[in-house]
Amino acid sequence: MKAIKINKNLKLLGRFRDEDSTEKFVFDSPRGIIELTWVRNKKGISVFCLPTHHYCNLGCKFCHLTEEHEGIDKKMIPIKAEDLSVALDYVMANYVKDKKILLSFMGVGEPFLNLDLIFKMFDLNKHKKGFVFGYALATMMLSPTGFKKIYQRIKQDDIPIKIHFSLHSPIDKIRHSIIPSSRDTISQCLKQLKKYQIIVKNKKEITNNLSKFHKTTDPVEIHYAIIKDINDSEKDLIKLINIGKEYEIPLKILKFNPTESLERSRQEQNWIKRLKAEYGASFAYYAPPGPNIGSSCGQFTKHYYLGSHSKEQLKEFNKWKLQYEVR
Ligand code: SF4
Repeated sequence: MKAIKINKNLKLLGRFRDEDSTEKFVFDSPRGIIELTWVRNKKGISVFCLPTHHYCNLGCKFCHLTEEHEGIDKKMIPIKAEDLSVALDYVMANYVKDKKILLSFMGVGEPFLNLDLIFKMFDLNKHKKGFVFGYALATMMLSPTGFKKIYQRIKQDDIPIKIHFSLHSPIDKIRHSIIPSSRDTISQCLKQLKKYQIIVKNKKEITNNLSKFHKTTDPVEIHYAIIKDINDSEKDLIKLINIGKEYEIPLKILKFNPTESLERSRQEQNWIKRLKAEYGASFAYYAPPGPNIGSSCGQFTKHYYLGSHSKEQLKEFNKWKLQYEVR
């Protein structure tokens, strides 16, 4: 498709649809790419997976976008709410019929490094009549400074944010090796998360909002993707089970999308069985939607961020585009 001009800043570069009906919209702005994924939930909820940055250089080892980051000179530019809201409004006005909209900041970037974007989106959406908005974010870093900002906003107007903590290893040294940007220890992070859980559970307005979008009203969740020979040992499993017993924070095991160097663990089924029986809080397994269009966890449409440098890469991108683009 030809690029569609949305306003003086924004162009829609492409719209892609996976077999499970998940769609991806890629926009170009003067500061960089904005990639937005739309998941139609069966319960009449539209979930948008949104980025907080135009690129990310935090270098998580399982990230499909940055696995070859070395040698790439690209900055991590925060997305402005003015641009993201125009992109979102465009998709909502043209394609979305649902009135319940969950904005899930789990796309490119680290939400705790651009919380203002989430707050501004909340302020802008407050005035949209006929819609109910929910908010969620997935983060690697649960910094006290970030929480301070969130608590201030909760005091002001009960902003309903569900926080998903990307744990991915219960051992600090290993976690730091796969998520180099993680600064605080796992126990510091879990204590922050627990405090947030306790504070929010007493906020009726927020729990009411959470119940409209999620199975439980718990405002926190731990995410873990099991990766072969990285975080799938018996020791890891026992430590994870103990985290459940100590903190009573729900756990979601995410189906891992293999990268060139990392594989899905063969222990997955065994872990699921054990966690179901032994984890100290609620437990779920989740296969993220839209894997063929780069929408699944840690996946993005690399070509738009980095370009296709070789003939082979370009050929591969064009083949993919032909198969999934909505024209
Ligand atoms: S997984 Fe997310 S936070 Fe980590 S490098 Fe990729 S985009 Fe950044």
